[in-house]
Parts: sequence; C-alpha cells; structure tokens
Amino acid sequence: MTGIQDKVIAITGASSGIGEAAALLLAGRGAKVVLGARRLERLEPLVERITKAGGQALLARTDVTRREDVAGLVRLACERYGRLDVLISNAGSLATSPLDELRVDDWEALVDTNIKGVLYGIAAALPVFRKQGFGHFINTASTSAHRIVPGQAVYAGTKFAVRAISEGLRQEAGAALRVTVISPGMTRTNFLEHVKDPETHARFAETMEKIAIAPDAIARAMAFAIEQPADVDVGEVIVRPTAQG
Ligand code: NDP
Repeated sequence: MTGIQDKVIAITGASSGIGEAAALLLAGRGAKVVLGARRLERLEPLVERITKAGGQALLARTDVTRREDVAGLVRLACERYGRLDVLISNAGSLATSPLDELRVDDWEALVDTNIKGVLYGIAAALPVFRKQGFGHFINTASTSAHRIVPGQAVYAGTKFAVRAISEGLRQEAGAALRVTVISPGMTRTNFLEHVKDPETHARFAETMEKIAIAPDAIARAMAFAIEQPADVDVGEVIVRPTAQG
C-alpha cells in the first residue's frame, strides 16, 4: 500500500509535541492512528479532536518502559483495525547533567525510556510485520545522535543507540520491511520540562525561544517517509532549525 490513506499507524509519545503533531497530520491524511502515552488526560481530547474532524483514532495508556504496555498498543491496532502498517517509536525523555554528578537514576530512566522503549516496540511489532509480510518502523532519534555536547552524554548515548539499533534492524529486515530514523533538532515542544537544573533549563529555553521549529516540521518528515512506495526506504531524515549550529 502506497501513501498514508487507510494506513494503520501506532505512535508512542503521542500525548504532546512531535507525537501529537504526527497524530494530527497523519490522521488528517486518512491514517487510522493508535495513540500511546502515559497521560490519558491529554490523549483523550486528542482522540476526540481527530474523530470530530472525521478521522479515526484509538488510544491506549502506554508506558514504554513496560514491555507489556507497548505490546498492548500494537495488539490494539491489530485487533481493532486488522493490521499494523507503521509503528512510530517516538516517546522520549531528556535529562542533562555532567557525568561527574553521578545521577545514576537519571541515566537509568533515559536508558529505559529512550532505548528500551524502542526495543519493546521492535519486540511487539516485528513478529506482526513478519507475519503480515510488510511493515514500517519509524524511530525518533535526535541531532544529539550525531553531535555530543557536555551534559548530554547519556541522552546522546541513548539516541546514538536508537540509530544503531535502527540500522541493524534495517539490515536484518530484508526487502519486506522499512526502517526510518527521524532525527529532530530543536523543536518547540514540552521537552524542556524534563530539564530539572534551573540554569541549564534557562539556557536551553532561551535558545529554544529563538530558533526552535514547530513539531509539525518533524511530523511532515515522518509523513514523507510513510508515503513513499513500499520499495523505497527513507533511512534517516535530520530536520533542524536553519539557525541550529
Ligand atoms: P514532549 O515532552 O512534548 O513529548 C514527549 C512524549 O514522550 C510525550 O508524549 C510523553 O508522554 C512521552 N513519554 C515520555 N516518557 C514516556 C514513557 N515512559 N512512556 C510513554 N510515553 C512517554 O517532547 P517531544 O515531542 O519533543 O519529544 C518527542 C521525541 O522527540 C523524543 O524522543 C525526543 O527525544 C525527540 N527529540 C526532541 C527534540 C526537541 O527539541 N523537542 C530534539 C530531538 C529529539 P507522557 O508523558 O504522556 O507519557
């Protein structure tokens, strides 16, 4: 199936920012979207907004650090819509600190959400895609998967891992499956809420205010990858503000 119309697309981290923008854009172009995140109070109005506009959407409370939740999201898509065409593993978290501070709990949370969350997506969807004979993984990395700055070693490490795992998956996937990495640069979302240190937060917020792009720009890159013919795999798209160094 080429295009976006009628595709069944599951999205993690759909309750805000890039995931929410992707849900709105893809549903607006005729996809059936299955939305996962922890905050139901944000997913419910989103599903209502999509369905009121004539689209099709379902939701499932999904914490991507719980393997069974991610499996449940994929299962919901298959049970209610009959198949899964695309899994967008987009949920992500940010914590910044120099390694010297030994914030081991933060490191573990980053690994659990950003790496294991993507792996649980693969564990849930790969058997489904193999059985169907088609399927498309889209994993959200970051420009931090290309460029490391002090204070972001662990976050960057998780996003390097997303790229590495995605490339390994692509090589093993064979002709039937597609794998895309989307690497956003600074994007205007709630992402900075994760930054606890007030000084770092203020610095990021200032740059964000000046240069960040809208989450819809990232959603459009996802749509571009999805709408290609089945034999065209968009490997990675880096989308960043023109002003980002
Ligand atoms: P937001 O904070 O707006 O959105 C993050 C999303 O991830 C939310 O929907 C949140 O939902 C979800 N999420 C976080 N932890 C979990 C979890 N354990 N289980 C399920 N969902 C979770 O930020 P963005 O939209 O910016 O982030 C989306 C992706 O984009 C992330 O992977 C991020 O790393 C990446 N990115 C963002 C950049 C930016 O500048 N904004 C730059 C580069 C990459 P909930 O809390 O409801 O569970």
